[in-house]
Amino acid sequence: MAQINEHFLQLPGAYLFSTIAAKVRDYRSRHPEAEVISLGIGDVTQPLVPAVVEALHAAADEMAGSATFRGYGPEQGYAFLREAIVQHDFEARGIPMSADEICINDGAKSDTGNFQELFGADARIAVTDPVYPVYVDSNAMGGRTGELLADGHWSKVVYLTGDAAGGFQPRLPEEPVDLIYLCYPNNPTGTVLTRAALQTWVDYARSHDAVILYDAAYEAYIQDAGIPRSIYEIPGAREVAAEFHSFSKTAGFTGLRCGYTVVPKELTAQTRDGRRVALHPLWVRRQSTKFNGASYLSQRAAAAVYTPEGRRQVEGNIAYYMRNAQKISDTLRQMGLEFFGGRNAPYLWVRTPQGMGSWQFFEAMLEATAVVCTPGVGFGPAGEGYVRLTAFGTHEQTDEALRRMVGWMTKK
Ligand code: PLP
Repeated sequence: MAQINEHFLQLPGAYLFSTIAAKVRDYRSRHPEAEVISLGIGDVTQPLVPAVVEALHAAADEMAGSATFRGYGPEQGYAFLREAIVQHDFEARGIPMSADEICINDGAKSDTGNFQELFGADARIAVTDPVYPVYVDSNAMGGRTGELLADGHWSKVVYLTGDAAGGFQPRLPEEPVDLIYLCYPNNPTGTVLTRAALQTWVDYARSHDAVILYDAAYEAYIQDAGIPRSIYEIPGAREVAAEFHSFSKTAGFTGLRCGYTVVPKELTAQTRDGRRVALHPLWVRRQSTKFNGASYLSQRAAAAVYTPEGRRQVEGNIAYYMRNAQKISDTLRQMGLEFFGGRNAPYLWVRTPQGMGSWQFFEAMLEATAVVCTPGVGFGPAGEGYVRLTAFGTHEQTDEALRRMVGWMTKK
């Protein structure tokens, strides 16, 4: 008899974005004339930059010739990409890194979801609340999270609950934890950690023998020079942290797919009988068994992001989105709404007015303005009373959405 992994049965039903899509479909069927604008999407809208497109064409031509055709690639990714990453994302910022500590992937979702496989079934995980749901759901699939409680929390997960008074900064856990997921700049709150705050986490992990899984998918959006773009800027992090990067939001690769995970050679965890084991060989072993690499085309395209033209063009796209973030921030301020983020991140985390619930606000704004946001409670119980807006729209869509929101809020 084939028995299923019953941990899957405990997962909450619909994925947040499917529920939103269903509600928007229902609205459209009732208002076929309405021009719906989404300030809720986490996907980018600007096309790939010319340097990336040229690299894709050139790689496609190579694949067409018998002398230049590429089949399966090296298991950790092509050296040309890993070396470019080391040079530009680490050495240029004064962070020593070796190319074989970089593992190329097809985006950060897979690796942030899969990395938990390296740890024991009873490893205790800590996540922020609100949180990017992949960290919790993948651990739930691995049987590490206990029971899903009525309030939306899991019984065995330690929540580092954020609130407005604490600026949605995570507090150190008060009980022992083994794995700590941190994501900065943060999705969904748009908040960042200062160097001093991140040092506190590295120190905590070192003194409590915990591993930090640091999701840096949005590091390219950091504008303030003092905010760390990698956890390895922090002394002592190499022994306690793995780090996840993505070209999705940096360079518009959401449809092309490429990212990378950093597993330093010094990063270790313990066996039941107390031996220290390095995670790097385990991760390479896991990947070479279950993953056959990002395509040659994606890796050539990603390498083009690091050329002088590629960098200039990609920075142009990020500046484009950050202009939206600035406009949204200005308008929220003008409307007197409290919010976080939008300065070093493409996300704005907005407190709903008059104590409205997240879904209540989502529905009221959709009905009144045909503008879509993301209900904060979809990212965890502490997100209730908040919605997330994103800066990933076009300028025209963003301007129009803000115009409608101002009209609605001033009427309310
Ligand atoms: N990590 C965070 C925090 C995200 O918000 C996302 C995507 O929205 C990802 C990782 C995954 O991105 P990708 O798989 O496209 O690299």
